[in-house]
Amino acid sequence: MTRCTTARVDLAALDRNFRAIGWYLQDEASLNRSAGRGAVRPPGIIAVVKANAYGHGARPVAKTLEAAGATMLAVADIEEGVDLRRSGIHAPILVFGALSVSDLDGVFDHDLTPTISSPAAGAALQAVADKRGTKLRYHLKIDTGMNRLGFRHDNLRRTLPALLSSPNLSLDAVHTHFGSADEPGHQLFDDQRTRFESACHVLDELSAGPRLRHAANSAALLRDSRVWYDLVRPGLLLYGLVPPPLGSTLPLAPVMSLTSRVVAVKGVRAGETVGYGGRFTADRAVTLAVIPAGYADGLDRRLEGRGAVLIRGRRAAIVGAVSMDMLTVDVTDIDAVGPGDEVVFLGSQGSEPQQTIDAREMAAWIGTIPYEILCRLGARVERKYA
Ligand SMILES: *Cc1c(COP(=O)(O)O)cnc(C)c1O
Repeated sequence: MTRCTTARVDLAALDRNFRAIGWYLQDEASLNRSAGRGAVRPPGIIAVVKANAYGHGARPVAKTLEAAGATMLAVADIEEGVDLRRSGIHAPILVFGALSVSDLDGVFDHDLTPTISSPAAGAALQAVADKRGTKLRYHLKIDTGMNRLGFRHDNLRRTLPALLSSPNLSLDAVHTHFGSADEPGHQLFDDQRTRFESACHVLDELSAGPRLRHAANSAALLRDSRVWYDLVRPGLLLYGLVPPPLGSTLPLAPVMSLTSRVVAVKGVRAGETVGYGGRFTADRAVTLAVIPAGYADGLDRRLEGRGAVLIRGRRAAIVGAVSMDMLTVDVTDIDAVGPGDEVVFLGSQGSEPQQTIDAREMAAWIGTIPYEILCRLGARVERKYA
């Protein structure tokens, strides 16, 4: 038995998106080679699968990206990394997040690559590695202006030597993260790039040895090939969406679609209200379709009066409160809607532009970003993989 509200995760589209990004990196690098500017070598790809692969399901997504040739996979914390190892992933796994002392063993037991972003984290890992008699490879995070995790870029000569001389830790790569790559013209982006490059020079002076560099999320990858370095770290692009407000000619397709079915159709008289709070009042005789999906499935309450769904190839406005398990849409102007009709929240129902809704559009309706739309898809929504 399955609920009629289901997410379809198109792993073939995921694979094509990964390859499209790879070709883009190759083409741009060869254009740069002839023009003598920017990155001249295509970087490797760290495929970001944190947060249950942006709601798509970490295990099948990671398996697909590993097979497609990702250099590394990246997760938010040790638990996510351990889950991927348990599912049989062999590719290197980078953990982005801060490490809490309690779960450091997971790094060693499951061969994860930690990010070290503070002297204390370095000391803790050195102690465990020493006790276990092993050498641990890690990535070093530099904070170049995000002011979240990472060693501050401006006092590395003071904060790094202890880490770099840790006998049981071996530096594989250095990275930073951009705070405004998706804001065209924002000065912070260029400031962060120059700070990161200065930080890399400091590492050279501290003779930290050869190591890889990486910095670019999806937006930075599209914005400036100078920040590709050795590896790029796309997340959203893999799932087929360009971070707004950026545009791109990359041939990407959204990996997730979300559909349901009409369970009931009913008439409402002029002057009557609909749903909790009675906030929608019919100004004429209105036909409503009831759909068994609500905020427990991740559909935001702010969609009321702002969002729409596709039914019979037409857009039907969401009217009345979005409830926990259902919502109502206005189908007065759509012919012959009946129980069982397919409802599309994310996806297509025809080839006209009006017949497609993606997470970017849904996000714009409610003033959020497509990342949040994808990640908040409810746990009870079954993901069907194709
Ligand atoms: C989430 C994340 C990414 C991927 O970001 P997108 O905008 O989805 O490409 C890259 N790097 C780090 C450190 C992240 O946390």
